[in-house]
Amino acid sequence: MRFHMLHPRDQLVAIMDRIYRNGMTTLSGGNLSIRDDDDSIWITPAGVDKGKLTPKDIICIRPDGTAIGPHRPSSELPFHRAIFTRRPDLRAIVHAHAPALVSFSIARQIPNTSIIPQAQRVCGLVGYAPYAVPASEALGESIANTFADGYNVVLLENHGIATGGLSLLDAYHRLETLDFCARTQLKAMGLGAISSLTETQLLPFDVQYNLLPEFRHESFSSRERELRQEIVEIVHRAVERYLMISTEGVVSARVDADSFLITPTGCDRGSVEIEDLVLIREGRRESGKVPSRSVRLHNAIYRTHPGTNCIITAQSPNATAYAISETRFDTRTIPESYVLLRDIPVIPYGTQFREPERVAAALSPATPVLLIQNDAVMTTGSTILKAFDRLEVAEFSAKALLDTAMIGRHVPIGDEDIADLKKAFNLAEED
Ligand SMILES: [Zn+2]
Repeated sequence: MRFHMLHPRDQLVAIMDRIYRNGMTTLSGGNLSIRDDDDSIWITPAGVDKGKLTPKDIICIRPDGTAIGPHRPSSELPFHRAIFTRRPDLRAIVHAHAPALVSFSIARQIPNTSIIPQAQRVCGLVGYAPYAVPASEALGESIANTFADGYNVVLLENHGIATGGLSLLDAYHRLETLDFCARTQLKAMGLGAISSLTETQLLPFDVQYNLLPEFRHESFSSRERELRQEIVEIVHRAVERYLMISTEGVVSARVDADSFLITPTGCDRGSVEIEDLVLIREGRRESGKVPSRSVRLHNAIYRTHPGTNCIITAQSPNATAYAISETRFDTRTIPESYVLLRDIPVIPYGTQFREPERVAAALSPATPVLLIQNDAVMTTGSTILKAFDRLEVAEFSAKALLDTAMIGRHVPIGDEDIADLKKAFNLAEED
């Protein structure tokens, strides 16, 4: 079932669950609301464990102010109401004290949303609301005034974040995307200067590279059905493990010599379903569906590398920190990292859109993983699980490297040991 068809109670519980599981709220912090067609506001309750919220706990505030439900509404109802009054176009509000965003709010800085192409498109410009006492009318006024200036994402000084959207999912995507930018920026700051995308660099992202000619897809092989299920499971797993955010990240898998399946563009990764995936056959897309923007890139890789059966591009905060920094991602940490990742080249930003063949040529059995500058980590494999394993190992290795800086210096495995490792694991030589 499509998310927006769910009752507001169920939407609020599902999104609070995602926020809690992703470590963006504590059991007591954060609140969410949806404005209904009749101007009732459905809102999360005060004083209920956010980790165990059920639809029965949600409170409905009627337009006359009557509260219906077993608990008191969130103490932050005044600011939710103030935003809805000032911004009649918004239908949902999300508020949380996500730690990475709190760091920015107490340093009184706005996170950089130009580190990857999608973030600025999702979040827009980020507003800033001066501090006021929680639950006060003054706080409501400070936040609502900033939303009234046209911002859909507002950093609350010494407090956290509030986002609005045309739907709850929309507001959640803004929170999650900004939180990703904040987490990644915090990680990358330890490596040195950060590279940001200019407006000109963001332009190729808007070109519709994904509008391939269409074909009518009428017969589904068992292999294709099996792969649809496996791709959906791996996308959900990546989102749950914070290896992929709901607004970015692509998984594709080869069906046969001429065709592959790929995730669609603009779809919530956390709720993607098997029928959403797009079959690409001989450079054409299944009619009525729009594949990810990187479809031409995946097509070029499958054509060049017959042994590659899965490609994943993902934004995981630690690995992506290396994609927005000048510092090299040195995989000579532990044998497992080097064996699975090998040395990781960095592909200049823009190449993924304009010269997919060049990216395909950078891959080989000795180079199964790439970093795409200011975009993502790309892993490949002979199976979906092998590509996913590489993504997990890339994220863990990057995290270990970044944390090492707190205790000392990374001592890489030496050249001779690397040569022995290649022999022991029968690894392909550099080409
Ligand atoms: Zn708060």
